[in-house]
Amino acid sequence: MDDVSTLVTGGAGFLGSHLCDRLVAAGHDVLCIDNFYTGSRRNVAHLLGKPNFELQRHDVTFPLYVEVDRIFNLACPASPVHYQYDPVQTTKTSVHGAINMLGLAKRVKARMLQASTSEVYGDPDVKPQREDYWGRVNPIGIRSCYDEGKRCAETLMFDYHRQHALEIKVVRIFNTYGPRMHPNDGRVVSNFIVQALKGEEITIYGEGTQTRSFCYVDDLIEGMLRMMESPADFVGPVNIGNPGEFTMLELAELVLRLTGSRSKLTFRPLPADDPKQRCPDIGLAAERLGWAPTVSLEDGLKPTIAYFKSVLGA
Ligand code: NAD
Ligand code: UDP
Repeated sequence: MDDVSTLVTGGAGFLGSHLCDRLVAAGHDVLCIDNFYTGSRRNVAHLLGKPNFELQRHDVTFPLYVEVDRIFNLACPASPVHYQYDPVQTTKTSVHGAINMLGLAKRVKARMLQASTSEVYGDPDVKPQREDYWGRVNPIGIRSCYDEGKRCAETLMFDYHRQHALEIKVVRIFNTYGPRMHPNDGRVVSNFIVQALKGEEITIYGEGTQTRSFCYVDDLIEGMLRMMESPADFVGPVNIGNPGEFTMLELAELVLRLTGSRSKLTFRPLPADDPKQRCPDIGLAAERLGWAPTVSLEDGLKPTIAYFKSVLGA
């Protein structure tokens, strides 16, 4: 993989920074671009001195003129709190960002991977979710800026593929967690760990019976890398996630046990359109990428808790 020039958009974010780590270690020339909306220079500070790593401030809603062989398009806030803060900008980032990166890919004949999401399935009425399920998404709700933006980005990917023969790869990422998540980003894993470490109440939305499937970041990045280098005729979409399914109450209990915290649970209203369940069918990833997650929730939470301890000085 030497001499491959790779662009990572959103590279200073949680997933993007781990992806940059792997690509730099593999010898790629990595150009990381980010507007630092939810990401931070700190996440990639350790890479700044490397000869094959470059960081550039750029907003993907504006065109970018660079020469690259591969594009990983991750730029987009992922936490509901952040993507709902400026919903118009969220849609612009997904849609204009995809158009700009696809335009770049077309001009330089690069292969492009889109970080899509399990949110394209909305509040699903089938379980587990397979890639051929079209989803149950509210087009006008408070999550729509993210869900519909990501759905439109998938549409653009496939139209560029059909219309311009662009090499595309679409991965649908299920809830992923690990070190470098933002402590205040409002996602459930970071919220529960930070609350437990500070001895604050653990905020359960609704009754806590809704489920999510949590993938450790290292497993996710391995899946993305395998997808990017898979044969050109395999374009996806492909689910990447851990099929272990947990209620939010179960997650809270696990976090309390692993942190040794005595925090109490407190119940808050369930946000609008909050999906009741999420569980990937990963048969396609297993068959076409030889990929399956290797890290259990308990094993992945341990280094994540250690990270938050260091961030909070706990
Ligand atoms: P994150 O918020 O940590 O990272 C997103 C990065 O994109 C940040 O660094 C942010 O500053 C940057 N960004 C946002 N808008 C931008 C813009 N207009 N131009 C340039 N950069 C911009 O979130 P993450 O968890 O690392 O998610 C990365 C990608 O993976 C996102 O596209 C997200 O939708 C997708 N995803 C993540 C998860 C998950 O559980 N972590 C699940 C499904 C999909
Ligand atoms: N959640 C919760 N307490 C929190 C944060 C989130 O109970 O402090 C719930 C939320 O309502 C959702 C689930 O945890 O049902 C996952 O939320 P997150 O924001 O992490 O991601 P989502 O999968 O909803 O995009």
